[in-house]
Amino acid sequence: MTLRNGKEFLMIPGPTSVPDDVLRAMHRPAVDIYEGPLVETTAFCMDGIRRLFRTKGRPYIYAANGHGAWDAALSNTLSRGDKVLVLESGRFAIGWGEAGEIAGLSMEILKGEWHKPVDPAAVENRLKQDRGGEIKAVLVVQVDTASGAWNDIAAIRKAMDAAGHEALLMVDTIASLGCMPFEMDDWGVDVALTGAQKGLMTPPGLSFVVAGKRATKAHATANLRTNYMDWTFRDGPEHYHKYCGTPPEHLLFAFRAALELIDAEGLENVWHRHALLAEATRKAIDVWAEGGVLEMNITEQTGRSDSVTVVRLRNVDPAPLRAFTKDVCGVTIGGAIGELSGKGIRIGHMGHVNAVMLLGTLSAIELGLAKLDIPHGKGGVQAAIDYLGGAL
Ligand SMILES: *Cc1c(COP(=O)(O)O)cnc(C)c1O
Repeated sequence: MTLRNGKEFLMIPGPTSVPDDVLRAMHRPAVDIYEGPLVETTAFCMDGIRRLFRTKGRPYIYAANGHGAWDAALSNTLSRGDKVLVLESGRFAIGWGEAGEIAGLSMEILKGEWHKPVDPAAVENRLKQDRGGEIKAVLVVQVDTASGAWNDIAAIRKAMDAAGHEALLMVDTIASLGCMPFEMDDWGVDVALTGAQKGLMTPPGLSFVVAGKRATKAHATANLRTNYMDWTFRDGPEHYHKYCGTPPEHLLFAFRAALELIDAEGLENVWHRHALLAEATRKAIDVWAEGGVLEMNITEQTGRSDSVTVVRLRNVDPAPLRAFTKDVCGVTIGGAIGELSGKGIRIGHMGHVNAVMLLGTLSAIELGLAKLDIPHGKGGVQAAIDYLGGAL
């Protein structure tokens, strides 16, 4: 017996649910790439990217996923043999550093734990030891999608300043932009990047990189540049320069529609919605944790992301629970990855998510826990409801 017929929910940490308005925006013929609606859409998107990152920096749009944005950030600013310091708080910053190694950079990992965010004091200490200025860039993710950690970017910038270090600060906001506060200029971020398919509610295939002033300056001497990623070419006068060829037209129309949805709600209201839904999720997990099996992966309360929640299951295989929510209830939740592979679940609550989707997801999980006899405290969903009732 299944109860899955009806609207299916995709509650994984990306790609995420695409709003109907965004899907509809793509249902149109291709258009001229030299003039007309596409040129105006590009201007709208460039402006929207600046508003999302809160920056006056230079945005670049790539027909690529997040991995492409990683390459773009590194190749435009660094040179062969340069060292990057990768701040570990899960899987993703390390993946970015590994991409740099393939391109000819050398990577040093500042060891971190999978159950807490980056420690800014450790960053300061490491940079203070680098008297020769060998480290050219610090790579960090705002949210690590594998661990659920929320890194304090402003504090990391302060730590770099306290060390008096010149390295560029590069931040991956793929799992956080459009979900949680990010202030590129106020926080002194030199390069910021994101993908379209998570908080930004757009089908996968677009990513964005913004260059701050110091990054633009570093670009002038970088020797890892490649034709497709190159900022110099993309700064050219023609519209097609901005895409180094044919623009990903339909994805741009989709992204524009997503920006309009964010504008209509108000970016700060979007952040607030994410904060409430994330806290409701955590309230449910706190109750389920009383059974001694489930636990929040991130131990410190302040280090927990508002876009994805990672839950560990002690000595219980999470696969049957995920299969139950999907096959019986119609909601897909994520499995844990990396070091936590096979040991937990990831609940994505980012982008086009409302209370119905979140409470429905939590209910399906609680039903699954009961049906599969996984020990858990009863009333997790009620705790989420009580929290939202008090917060609204
Ligand atoms: C999803 C994700 C990526 C990878 O993005 P792709 O679009 O899959 O290449 C990188 N960093 C973070 C933090 C992510 O969440």
